[in-house]
Parts: sequence; C-alpha cells; structure tokens
Amino acid sequence: MRTKLLKCSDFGLECDAEFRGATVEEVLEQVKKHGMEAHGQTAEQVNSEAVMQIAATKTRDEDGS
Ligand SMILES: [Zn+2]
Repeated sequence: MRTKLLKCSDFGLECDAEFRGATVEEVLEQVKKHGMEAHGQTAEQVNSEAVMQIAATKTRDEDGS
C-alpha cells in the first residue's frame, strides 16, 4: 500500500513535521491536530478552505514516483 505524504512546510511554515496516511483524509486529520498543538492554530483555522486546498494539491505518494 502506498503511503501519502504531506509536510508542514507545504503550508508555508518553517517546520519539519511530516504527515503520513493511507488517504488524504487521514493525513489531514494529523495536520489539523498538529496545527493546533504545535502552532497554536484554532479549529477554524485548521478547517479553513485554504488548508483543504493545500492538502488536496500537495499530498503526494511517499515514493515520489
Ligand atoms: Zn508544523
């Protein structure tokens, strides 16, 4: 099974955190949790349209091929 990968830096943050999951939804759940815990973002911020857009366009398969 391929693993999907998204990085915190994909959101323009200077952060090394990486998120992995089987689906974009799984990855997004981690992004939201991380955003609130590590970056002090609000639930509104992590559920914004901008975050969904970035997750949808930047999430890639980890092998990169
Ligand atoms: Zn981060």
